[in-house]
Amino acid sequence: MNEDLKQFLKKAGLKKSCHTLIHSSFRNIRNAFPDISIEYFIRSLQEIVTDEGSIIMPAFTYCFKRSSGEFEVFDKLSSPSKIGAVSEVFRNMPNVIRTSSPTHSFSLWGKAAKIIGCDNSPASPLGAGSVLDWLANTSLSYIILAGVDFSALSFGHYLEVKAPVPWHNISPWDYLSVEPIGASASGEQKLIELPGCAKSFINFERFLIDNEIISFYYEHNTKFFFISTKTLIKHGLSYFSKQYKSLLCNAGTCQACDSRRKQTNIY
Ligand SMILES: [Zn+2]
Repeated sequence: MNEDLKQFLKKAGLKKSCHTLIHSSFRNIRNAFPDISIEYFIRSLQEIVTDEGSIIMPAFTYCFKRSSGEFEVFDKLSSPSKIGAVSEVFRNMPNVIRTSSPTHSFSLWGKAAKIIGCDNSPASPLGAGSVLDWLANTSLSYIILAGVDFSALSFGHYLEVKAPVPWHNISPWDYLSVEPIGASASGEQKLIELPGCAKSFINFERFLIDNEIISFYYEHNTKFFFISTKTLIKHGLSYFSKQYKSLLCNAGTCQACDSRRKQTNIY
């Protein structure tokens, strides 16, 4: 059974020297591969790409300063990832380093850990100078979505900044008293281009599938995507600059998207 997972990942396209960002839901992965542990899932990825490649996962904590009420302060060693169990286990595994963004840190293993380093903390957390920017400019770089859809695709935020969409530098979080400042134990950091709501990135997913630009693998009703960042950039930049309206949730259904719609007059 365990070899099944590795065979499956290789069949999907994962190979030695790939630099791979993984978004996952372990509950859904277990539907497809019932006997595996989180550690086994991560080790399988590492064994296939080897340390010639990279395994990368978000370890986001969203530690923004707030103008009212309490807010969490990022501590690189102890703040748990809010992205789920797989990302939290990965963060604590040997030879994995964490970048320093108070809001959007990443865990890195392999080449990316050596090249990017643990001090990475750009003012645009998912834009210029970020781990996603490195992936976008590195060959053999891929994104795996394991049991999650495009609402987990952080790379969509990179595309928002790159395209750019009209709201790329407008914070959607005013209603939560969020300030454009990261709060870290090592100090405060001024931020630009705060990542917002990703729910409607599924419309970009639909576009790519309907146009047969990407495909996915089904294993016991669990969807797995294996997508090159080149493909996402090539088709994403044009989609995000032309069809950006579909990237905001429907009016009246999401405070974050409504706030951006209001401030940019997009209806
Ligand atoms: Zn939304």
